[in-house]
Amino acid sequence: MKITVWHPEERRSYVIYDWDGNVLEEGPTLSADEVYCDLCNEEVIFRPVPVAEGYALCDNCMPKLVPDWYDQVLNRPDGADILEAWYEQRYERRFKNKASE
Ligand SMILES: [Zn+2]
Repeated sequence: MKITVWHPEERRSYVIYDWDGNVLEEGPTLSADEVYCDLCNEEVIFRPVPVAEGYALCDNCMPKLVPDWYDQVLNRPDGADILEAWYEQRYERRFKNKASE
């Protein structure tokens, strides 16, 4: 499975269209910070957000769904920057969790 990345922006949580493409219903607005894993619904802390087959993935689900995610990301032209950012984001979250204990 191939990993891509997504830079989230403010958006609707969902939009329902009819067959003619008219909007029937729109979900609440989500900020760029609000991204949830499409598999387990955990908050996704990584930016850019890892995506496989159109699913946003958290750092728990990503290695389960895409075992070779690390090599895939590393082989991107911007891979080293992404891995460094993810490493820091993961560390920051651990630090935050500790501070709130
Ligand atoms: Zn998940």
